[in-house]
Amino acid sequence: MKIFSTASELTTALAAERAANRTIGFVPTMGALHAGHAALVRHSAAEQAVTVASIFVNPTQFNDGQDLAAYPRTPDADIQLLREYGCHYLYLPTVDDVYPAGLQDNPVAHLDFGRLTTRMEGASRPGHFAGVVQVVSRLLDIVRPHVLYMGQKDYQQVAVVRRMVDLLGLQVSVTGVPTVREADGLAMSSRNRRLNVEERRAAAKINRHLSAVAAGLRSHWPARELERLAIKGMQAVPLLEPEYVEVVDGDTLLPYQDGEPVRELVVATAVRVGAVRLIDNRIAITANP
Ligand code: AMP
Repeated sequence: MKIFSTASELTTALAAERAANRTIGFVPTMGALHAGHAALVRHSAAEQAVTVASIFVNPTQFNDGQDLAAYPRTPDADIQLLREYGCHYLYLPTVDDVYPAGLQDNPVAHLDFGRLTTRMEGASRPGHFAGVVQVVSRLLDIVRPHVLYMGQKDYQQVAVVRRMVDLLGLQVSVTGVPTVREADGLAMSSRNRRLNVEERRAAAKINRHLSAVAAGLRSHWPARELERLAIKGMQAVPLLEPEYVEVVDGDTLLPYQDGEPVRELVVATAVRVGAVRLIDNRIAITANP
């Protein structure tokens, strides 16, 4: 695996790959890699000739300075894991290399995402998706992949990036990879490393409540009632503080109205566990298995 810290070196290397007609898969990450990231790299390595990963803790998508400061960083272990997963190129830049004109320079700030970015994570983390769109558009411009691999764990993020690709008319397809979970069902996340033993045990309950909502939806129980039950159930678990539980249409991310036809039906949540904020979701029904 070749490691580059500058966009210019990486761009030159990838131009040669494209000239040789090799397809490029790209996996952007913020590091502290785990089996969820590994799944993305494996998908790319299986489907594309060349796999590129990036590790960049993007300051512009953090609305909470403490969360940014506490974000785990394990570059040596990450490099070793990426080599094992079959990654060919790693972009490991500085903030200045990603944002040469400064953090405020956001060429995609004008894009209108409508209500896709105003609810759930958009409502809870003001400015978060503006930062996500800013960094993903910059990384796509540097890497120019054929396929972008993203985790369904960040369901709203995938929807926002798909919309960005449409709005900008970019020539890249976006593949959503299913969420990888721990044996007890907790969605893998770099932030899980910050949980103590009690918090870690409590966090496993999040998935159980989401699974119960998904099962209820498949049995045609009312969505708002299921949301209320999941909130109450999580509030009853010591150390869990649910922020939201929302049953949404997977395409619009608007609240699901019982009985309406949807391609994908999703229940999404954000939960505080001590000082750590976790998100997760379950796809209750999908037309694309
Ligand atoms: P992050 O490093 O948290 O920004 O995540 C980088 C990519 O990995 C994003 O596309 C995430 O959605 C994806 N990802 C994170 N956790 C998981 C997981 N448990 N399963 C699948 N993909 C994941």
